[in-house]
Amino acid sequence: MLAVRYYGIGDIRVENIPKPAPGHDEVLVKVAYAGICGSDLHIFRKGMFISSAPVTMGHEFSGVVEEVGAGVTGLRPGDQVVGDPRVPCGRCQWCRREQYNLCPGLGFIGEVRPGCFAEHIAINYKKLLKVPALDLKEAVLVEPLAVAVHIAKKGKLSPENTVGILGAGPIGLLTLAAAKAIRVREVIVVDPSPARLEIARKICADSAVAAIPEDPADLADVVVEAAGTGSALAGALKWLKPGGRLVMAGIYEDRVQLDPNNIINRELKIAGINAYETDDLKSSAEMLAGGKVNIAPIVSLILPLESAAEGFSLLTSPSVAVGKILLAP
Ligand SMILES: [Zn+2]
Ligand SMILES: [Zn+2]
Repeated sequence: MLAVRYYGIGDIRVENIPKPAPGHDEVLVKVAYAGICGSDLHIFRKGMFISSAPVTMGHEFSGVVEEVGAGVTGLRPGDQVVGDPRVPCGRCQWCRREQYNLCPGLGFIGEVRPGCFAEHIAINYKKLLKVPALDLKEAVLVEPLAVAVHIAKKGKLSPENTVGILGAGPIGLLTLAAAKAIRVREVIVVDPSPARLEIARKICADSAVAAIPEDPADLADVVVEAAGTGSALAGALKWLKPGGRLVMAGIYEDRVQLDPNNIINRELKIAGINAYETDDLKSSAEMLAGGKVNIAPIVSLILPLESAAEGFSLLTSPSVAVGKILLAP
């Protein structure tokens, strides 16, 4: 089968590798769509999260069950599924409480195990969620939307809030969609890319602009930092109202400098976001099935696996002009 494998920084190759055979508790899924995520870009640019190469990349997927191992219950060939790509240690105090996103040893498929940028993936049946009511093209967004659901929860978004979102990449845009579903008072999205701001407008951002507004009337109750840069973080701190809440959802490739007095003087609250909890995945699938979120505009392009490198170069271009890119094996 074809698979997109990471060999080193800037080096991904589409190769023919043996199709996996499902183990006793595993399901063989024929991948329908796989999303290129911001963390895949961190791998591509910086080699983050990877312990050994080559590895088949990718952790966001939707697909159809093709074969099940002898120990699998609740799933059979033909079922439409999405995956929970988290690979926790299973032994620490947080894993024992099922708080897998807090597991210090947390990894993901596509990083510590073969991922889904391939025609097939073999995965433990407990890591699959049935999505019979969803179009598979939409279902592939269940996993990244779960991050947005988690952001909304940790940011305690409510209808009284003015919400600022820094970064209109897929996570920023999905957070916008989740915030609109919660009917927050106002969402302001900031991103330098005109194309991404256009997508934000399609998802009904109340305002989509290239720079953080300076009018005190536009101060935010909650700012979601989904860009992962020092300037965005510093901007987020200044954008917040006193007592406001900063939700940190971007991953930083570089160390940043900031003035902590901006946090102290105004008693800002900070929530870090590491993926999502299991319930967030379920809520995300329910939100999509219920038609509660408008996410279609987020997918800009669907490419065959063979063109994965093109997807990576579009997404890492300094003048990025696309939202989500899907691979369709
Ligand atoms: Zn992801
Ligand atoms: Zn653990």
